[in-house]
Amino acid sequence: MRAVTVTPGVPDSLRLTEDWPEPAPEEGAILVEALAVGICGTDQEIIAGEYGEAPPGQERLVLGHESLGRVLEDPTGTLHPGDLVAGVVRRPDPVPCANCAVDEWDMCRNGRYTEHGIKGLPGFARDRWRLPPKFAVGLDPALESVGMLLEPTSVVAKAWDHIERIGRRAEWKPKTALITGAGPIGLLAALLASQRELSVHVLDRNTTGPKPDLVRALGATYHTSTVAELDLAPDVVVECTGAPPVVLDAMCKAAPNGIVCLTGVSSGGRTIDFDAGALNRELVLENNVVFGSVNAGRRHWELAAEALARADRSWLASLVTRRVPVSAYREAYASTGDDIKVVLDFAQ
Ligand SMILES: [Zn+2]
Repeated sequence: MRAVTVTPGVPDSLRLTEDWPEPAPEEGAILVEALAVGICGTDQEIIAGEYGEAPPGQERLVLGHESLGRVLEDPTGTLHPGDLVAGVVRRPDPVPCANCAVDEWDMCRNGRYTEHGIKGLPGFARDRWRLPPKFAVGLDPALESVGMLLEPTSVVAKAWDHIERIGRRAEWKPKTALITGAGPIGLLAALLASQRELSVHVLDRNTTGPKPDLVRALGATYHTSTVAELDLAPDVVVECTGAPPVVLDAMCKAAPNGIVCLTGVSSGGRTIDFDAGALNRELVLENNVVFGSVNAGRRHWELAAEALARADRSWLASLVTRRVPVSAYREAYASTGDDIKVVLDFAQ
């Protein structure tokens, strides 16, 4: 069968392998036929040789962590042939740490977790894959063309879940949310904010392309100024750029009792002048919380599946700006700069 693979650590070792072995029964009882995988910046880093780890004893890693497939067989009866399914990306570490021991693999403390298509487990960019029921998430049948958005949605579902848990430390009646960055994560964070009936503001530097209209279609307001220039006091900020000046401005922008969730990963090595004392004073005197959030637990995958099922299907479909057949896989992984989400299509 076909699989899109790389040799981790070797730049430009991306290949379409035609004779990749069928998934071994040990991978899980549920056999799935791939429909599509979404592509993100992590895939680009792995292709560039900067990141990624093949399974133990193997040279090549199958790419793909944003999955969508159709169940071929499930002898456990958890799912049924024909059901849409996505695979949870992360698996608990083998120790396990206190969090992985209770299946909170997204909160792993020792970093020894594994991840499909990223770290020590084969990805989903292959014709067929297998999953144990615990790591298989069923999707609404209407999500056939957009279900590969479940993985990025699970990341923002966790962010919102933790924002709300932190909010419950005291009386919590949020009205305004600011999302910085209108990439797939920012737009999906804005979708979940609009589903909470907040007044939603999205900030991005793009003045053209599909982003402004996608934001307005959610009933949200699109801004291209700096965060500091915004005439807003958001109760919630979800930072999705990882750009240091935006991150710092976002931390300073929250309203009293505000919560700032950081989801963007900065590359580091960049220094900017910054008044740390003023930030400290503001956080203390306003009871503000700044926290980081990554990955997602099983509960967040289920919350994400509900959020996608409730969302406007045509809005979700317009996040997918290119859909590339597997035979043209190199085009799919080539970044154009204009894309929101590129999808590698296994059904074509
Ligand atoms: Zn762990």
